[in-house]
This record gives sequence, structure tokens and C-alpha cells, in this order.
Amino acid sequence: MRINGLVIDGFKSFADRVKLPIEAGTTGVVGPNGCGKSNLLEAIRWAMGEHRVAEFRGSGMEDVIFAGTQRRSERSICEVGIEHEDPARDGGRLMVRRRIERGEGSSYWFAERKVRLSDVVLHYKDLGSGPTSAALVSQSQITRLVDKATPADRRPLLEAAAGIAGLKPRRDAAAKS
Ligand code: ATP
Ligand code: MG
Repeated sequence: MRINGLVIDGFKSFADRVKLPIEAGTTGVVGPNGCGKSNLLEAIRWAMGEHRVAEFRGSGMEDVIFAGTQRRSERSICEVGIEHEDPARDGGRLMVRRRIERGEGSSYWFAERKVRLSDVVLHYKDLGSGPTSAALVSQSQITRLVDKATPADRRPLLEAAAGIAGLKPRRDAAAKS
């Protein structure tokens, strides 16, 4: 699944609305420590429906909303949109958006149609993507994999990379029957 662009408004260090087109080929994001590179990846995971707060280095889901600085007041909402290729749609593209408002929780849209979290989760499963996709690799995952993982911990990742991740449950079921 190819992401064509992001719209980020009020997510973590992104105080203002920004549109980030992602052109064909390789895109790199560079900048000093703390400028928001990892926040970009978190924004993608968040819009894909990630609901485990621990994935966002905060103590509550509202911590993803821009918290303000000495010169800027905090935001009360944040929104992230991912435009990606989707062969099943007219035009071959879809904008999936998630928005959170303080005290109100999250809402999701496919283009202008409001949908439920479960629709978003299924949508990305169908596309072989989603917040836990092996294509999205965070710094903490690398550290965990290199420093602490056992061969058994590494195996699911290798199976996912080899495209055989779904086979073990089938093999177990076949062995039982
Ligand atoms: P590194 O090169 O060290 O990995 P990075 O570019 O990946 O850095 P991030 O971790 O993406 O940086 O960004 C961290 C910054 O985001 C910090 O400056 C932090 O203050 C800011 N930040 C995180 N949450 C919020 C928030 N809710 N509101 C405002 N700023 C936030
Ligand atoms: Mg980082």
C-alpha cells in the first residue's frame, strides 16, 4: 500500500496544519534531535487506528494533541489524514482521517464519510497494512530487537517478511484435525 501524502494538524509537535506530499521514489526526512521525525511515523500509526497509548510515548491518548509551548497555546483538537492508494475506490485513492478532541475521544472518516474504528482496522487488514505492519519500524522496536529479543521473538518478524506469517495458525489447526 503506497502512501501518497499526509495532512497533519495539531498532532504532537505539529502545531499547525501541514500537508506533506510523498512523491514516487524514496523519501527521507532529516532534522535535528527532537524536531518531530518519529512523530511523523506515530501520526501514520495513529491515523491507522492504533489505540494502545504506550505506542505514543504519552500517558493518555489526548497527549497526542499539541500541548503548547512558551509562545503558543495548546490546541484542543488534532487531526491526521493519510492519503493512500486504494485500487477498490474511484480514482484509486482514499483519504483516511482520524480526529481527536479534548474530552470527546476519536472520530474516523473515509473521505467525507464517517466510519467506526472497526471499519478502519478492517480496511487496513484488507490492504495488508495497519499500525502493526512490519513496514512501519520505530526506533524503540529496533533497540528491542537488537538488544533484548530472543530467537522466538524474532521469528514472527522474519515470517512476516517472508510472507508466511499466516501459515502457522493453519498448520496448528491442521495438526489438531
Ligand atoms: P530524534 O532524532 O531524537 O529521534 P525526532 O526528530 O524523532 O528526534 P520526535 O521524537 O519525533 O523527534 O519529537 C519529539 C518532540 O516532540 C519533542 O520536542 C517533544 O516536546 C515534542 N512533542 C511530543 N508530544 C508533544 C505534544 N503533545 N505537544 C507538543 N510537542 C510535543
Ligand atoms: Mg526519533
